[in-house]
Amino acid sequence: MIEIQHVSFGYAEDVTILKDVSARFLPGRVAGVIGPNGSGKTTLFRLIAGLETPDAGTITLNGAPIRSLPPKALARQLAVVPQSAHMDFDFTVRDIVMMGRHAHIPRFHHPGTHDVEACEHAMRETGVSAFADKFVTGLSGGEWQRVLIARALCQEAGALLLDEPVSNLDLQYQLSTLRLMRALAREKNACVVCILHTLNLAAHYCDDVLLLWHGAVYKSGTPEEVITPATLREVYGVEATACPLPGGKTEVVPLY
Ligand code: ADP
Repeated sequence: MIEIQHVSFGYAEDVTILKDVSARFLPGRVAGVIGPNGSGKTTLFRLIAGLETPDAGTITLNGAPIRSLPPKALARQLAVVPQSAHMDFDFTVRDIVMMGRHAHIPRFHHPGTHDVEACEHAMRETGVSAFADKFVTGLSGGEWQRVLIARALCQEAGALLLDEPVSNLDLQYQLSTLRLMRALAREKNACVVCILHTLNLAAHYCDDVLLLWHGAVYKSGTPEEVITPATLREVYGVEATACPLPGGKTEVVPLY
């Protein structure tokens, strides 16, 4: 479980980016973090990942303060898929995915049988096995995004943070990636947290939604509670309507 309690943070002393944010992300569930550009979503992920330190408040992972965990111990429990990660070196896809095992392989050791299996499994799950021996510098944006997801899966951490994991993916991979995240939560009891911009994907695949606006929690709850025509009007300035879907659910659709 990831627990954020009364966290405030600014990159500079005089600018507060996150204001008194509290949230709880539970194992066995997929949580979506939504909100307009500049709301502080990535900043919140940087704090959870221990890359920044809150000015106030606490963040714990399975009860331990994030900042108290040594990097390798943290990496065994928390995997992060960044929004963008530049790679200028000619590593192969398999090399990059295997880097997810870094926290599991003792220094000066080669990957063991389980490391190799975890790497191959993560590549299969994300559909990148077919180009495992290709250099990553020659991949499309969507292929690279799937490699980063594979690297995080390979880490076999109980908690995953994914910053816009489907932004470069075609529809098929958007759905298969989010299905995979849901399966990880359901079958492996993983705690999955995704920043998503496509609100209908968040509504469909997330169990819980946290809506940030101007650095504060505007609303949190089930997708039905948070993603409403009223919220879209207030927060995004977009008129929308709730349309019935086959099966009894509704989808909030912008009036284009
Ligand atoms: P979101 O992910 O919701 O789009 P971000 O967390 O990326 O929002 O950014 C929130 C605010 O913090 C923005 O105003 C952004 O300009 C600012 N910001 C983000 N990263 C930095 C940084 N490294 N230094 C200073 N300001 C930053």
